[in-house]
Amino acid sequence: MSKAIGPLDVALEQLRIAAEMIELDPGIHAFLKRPKRTLTVSIPIKMDSDDINVFWGCRVQHIDARGPFKGGIRYHPCVDLAEVTALAMWMTWKCAVVDIPYGGAKGGVCCNPKDMSKAELERLTRRYTNMLLDFIGPRRDVPAPDVYTDAQTMAWIMDTYSRFKGYSVPECVTGKPIILGGSEGRTEATSRGVMICVREAAKRKGMRMKGATVAVQGYGTVGSNAAKIAQDMGAKIVAVSDSSGGIYNRSGLNPRKVSEHKEKTGSVVGFKKATKEVTNSELLESDCDILVPAALHNQITKANAGRIRARIIGEGANGPTTPEADKILRERQILLVPDILANAGGVTASYFEWVQNLTREHWALEEVNRKLESVMVKAFKDVNSIMAKKSTDMRSAALILGVGRVGEAIKTLGLWP
Ligand code: NAD
Repeated sequence: MSKAIGPLDVALEQLRIAAEMIELDPGIHAFLKRPKRTLTVSIPIKMDSDDINVFWGCRVQHIDARGPFKGGIRYHPCVDLAEVTALAMWMTWKCAVVDIPYGGAKGGVCCNPKDMSKAELERLTRRYTNMLLDFIGPRRDVPAPDVYTDAQTMAWIMDTYSRFKGYSVPECVTGKPIILGGSEGRTEATSRGVMICVREAAKRKGMRMKGATVAVQGYGTVGSNAAKIAQDMGAKIVAVSDSSGGIYNRSGLNPRKVSEHKEKTGSVVGFKKATKEVTNSELLESDCDILVPAALHNQITKANAGRIRARIIGEGANGPTTPEADKILRERQILLVPDILANAGGVTASYFEWVQNLTREHWALEEVNRKLESVMVKAFKDVNSIMAKKSTDMRSAALILGVGRVGEAIKTLGLWP
């Protein structure tokens, strides 16, 4: 039996394709294949029952040639080192694609937050932060939220880090609550960036956002906000899902009402205005113009890529499409806006938050959204022009831009000693 393809296989294959297209120096290619530093930790926590549980966690720092490391922290039962390494690598390319001065990192703790109390999650977060203390920091590595971590998690990280320093260090982490120096618009920024890219992609396809039908897989921070922003752009949300399943209504679902339902019941499933329930795989293949995968990796594979009906895919999630599926989608002329461009709005707003913290400023929401719009549209145009010049797909074009910039930075810095 052949081994299932994992996110790190996907990330390395993408790097190989980009390296070949830009004729990257083999030494630099080797440099980029591996993270600069990997820290694994065992995190002992006293559970509410008084039992001690020990959780596995890690922080992977890929390449910091363009600036300090930056990347989310994920709490999930399936987190492993290969996945976190792939996510760190994607962060490196992503920061380079939108041209913000960071390198890529990612952290993960293997746990099931759904089975843990808030107090247990707080102890886990504080102990994990304590174990990363010598590796993170505002000029070294700045964490942010990812799957099943949120603004509260970031507040605990900030507090723990600050307690050890002896003074308040809001710039040590982004995605914080506004009251602690978080940026206006950060929570929705990833989704806003996805929808800006989808809107630009729709222009290229001669499609209008008004009346376009949208399916969203994953109804967390990224998915739910993408649905709301899509609705604000005039689109109709026909299907959404989460880890418990999905719902569909050809006439449209109100994403704000779906969020209220999820808030109350814990899932989108059971929403009264849905006309039918769908599985996550049916959602991906549903009849829609725009598909936004916003859950986990490896969702669009060679097994279902031939049945995707959307004309545009905006990757909210990291790594939702395998390279084999990419090929099928390209042949079918489905325009896929890749993760390292589409979901870069999150890290861009995180960068804005960091700048605000370092300068002790607080920008208005309009200013954040205006700056975000300008960064995303420029990155989209940059990728689009490489796509045209090299007659390639958008993922390859984004990788050419991202990998190319990082490779150039490494070359310019030179190798010490
Ligand atoms: P989240 O924890 O807020 O939401 C995740 C959602 O996915 C939940 O609704 C969950 O029920 C759903 N889900 C989990 N397993 C699923 C499955 N098997 N099928 C369908 N749905 C499933 O996480 P998030 O922050 O919204 O992140 C979602 C994706 O976006 C991840 O891939 C993450 O790496 C990526 N991303 C997030 C950000 C950010 O700013 N939060 C930025 C860039 C990329």
